[in-house]
Amino acid sequence: MNKYFITILALICASVFANCATAETVSTDTYKKEIYTNYKESPYVLPFLPKQKHKVIQGNCEKKEKPWTHYDNLKYAYDFEMPIGTEIIAAKTGTVLFVRDEFTDNDHGKNQGNAIVIIHEDGTFALYAHITHKGSKVRLGQIVKQGDIIALSGNSGESPIPHLHFQVNSTGDFAKGESVPITFKNVFPEAGRLEKNAEYEAN
Ligand SMILES: [Zn+2]
Repeated sequence: MNKYFITILALICASVFANCATAETVSTDTYKKEIYTNYKESPYVLPFLPKQKHKVIQGNCEKKEKPWTHYDNLKYAYDFEMPIGTEIIAAKTGTVLFVRDEFTDNDHGKNQGNAIVIIHEDGTFALYAHITHKGSKVRLGQIVKQGDIIALSGNSGESPIPHLHFQVNSTGDFAKGESVPITFKNVFPEAGRLEKNAEYEAN
């Protein structure tokens, strides 16, 4: 086996490691650094105000069965339970690329999810979904700083209970793009990947 082949093999292994099967076995304490960056070095804050605490009702890499949806290209999304009207903040500085808040919290059709998309300087895209009717606090093209209030949460679209669906994506085409694993620098208790059914406070 030559060096070139070993390198290729290593790359294949690395890509296999970066999938859900591995992440499912990773606990908060021992999260894989190659998948989740150390939270202390994360460029993201939790998408809600400091001193607030919210439960993760759906985490990363869920099983492909109902009622879960965080698999395939949504596998690194988080659902935070929160009452309708909770203030949502920008997890990272960026520019508002998409705003939809026309649907009500009783509209649960496939294409009735209100949402805001923000593009970051590094070319990634943040999706803040299920916001409430007229819940946007930003306009298209607006530059928002990390921590700015951008919306009020809701229950619009494919949402069984009021919550915020948050994910960072590799492209602006959320149907084709891949969500990317992220951590939050202001999370308490300390955590890499956030775990389902755990509550996290924003410091
Ligand atoms: Zn979700």
